[in-house]
Amino acid sequence: MPYLTAPEALGELLPGEPSYRADQLRRWLYEAPVLDPADMTNLPAAVRERLGGLWPFTVEEQQSADGGRTIKWLFRAPDGVAIEAVLMGYRSRVTLCISSQAGCAMGCTFCATGQFGFDRHLDAGEITAQVAYAGAHLREHPIEGSPDRVTNVVFMGMGEPLANYTHTREAIRRMVEVMGISGRSVTVSTVGFLPGMERLATEPWPVTLALSLHAADDDLRQRLVPINRRYPIDDLITAAATYAETKGRRVTLEWTLMDGVNDTPEQARGLAAIARELRAHVNVIALNPTPLSDLQRPSARAAEAFVERVAAAGANVTLRDTRGRDIDAACGQLRARKG
Ligand code: SF4
Repeated sequence: MPYLTAPEALGELLPGEPSYRADQLRRWLYEAPVLDPADMTNLPAAVRERLGGLWPFTVEEQQSADGGRTIKWLFRAPDGVAIEAVLMGYRSRVTLCISSQAGCAMGCTFCATGQFGFDRHLDAGEITAQVAYAGAHLREHPIEGSPDRVTNVVFMGMGEPLANYTHTREAIRRMVEVMGISGRSVTVSTVGFLPGMERLATEPWPVTLALSLHAADDDLRQRLVPINRRYPIDDLITAAATYAETKGRRVTLEWTLMDGVNDTPEQARGLAAIARELRAHVNVIALNPTPLSDLQRPSARAAEAFVERVAAAGANVTLRDTRGRDIDAACGQLRARKG
């Protein structure tokens, strides 16, 4: 499974082969990925066979929606854990949403993944392989009117990436330094894992930090996001401000809008105040309801009214569309159905 070996160590998989073979293999894995090792045309068949398979998972299900512009995969690792990734094609970019853990220990009450608990961390190779697989798929099946490669990566699938720091960091390094994805086009979304936010600020890459806030006061936030008891909002604001200052990058605030929960005028004002303080951009996305929770999606009108209130209070805010609603595209929903 070559993706489970660091790109610089691929020669260890090819003992007795000249060193340029490892360079050729690295190019096929990271720069011009292919779905099938047989397509690595400049590698002898004997070398390809020694790889013992290309992907550290099998494709259990592939779904597409939005006229083929959204594709979702459910991958299955050999130990049985599920890994989800979602590809979204736009006019000027192709964004891949990836998972950093199988399951999640954070227990956010509105999230399908959180309701199923934690299986294990993903290895850096399993994280990077999601990007490579999507890239290989795009080369064979381009999305009409979109770039033919993955231009943006968001850590917004299953898992809290900063709770799996070592592997998340290594995966980012491989994407930026080996695959050629711009650091600015990689977004790490955290539910507020404070030590990881602080460490990320010390890394060399200008990745975008997205803080999933969801509530503007600690009482509500700790009901939705239990880890808020350990890392309250004021501490997160301080860490986000430090990140923005250190990197010279605007932080994003994510807000999953839930009917009658965090769509009130008070929450809109509180969110706007935090966004103004951080000079952050706010992304509001209406909840995709999950079977194990009573939380509901607000009406389109209510979502628009909330966003108008946040904007009127002086914050920079966008109401995002929910790609792939007909294919369980929200975090953990496909896995929740498949088990
Ligand atoms: S929202 Fe993110 S951090 Fe929270 S349970 Fe779901 S995957 Fe984990």
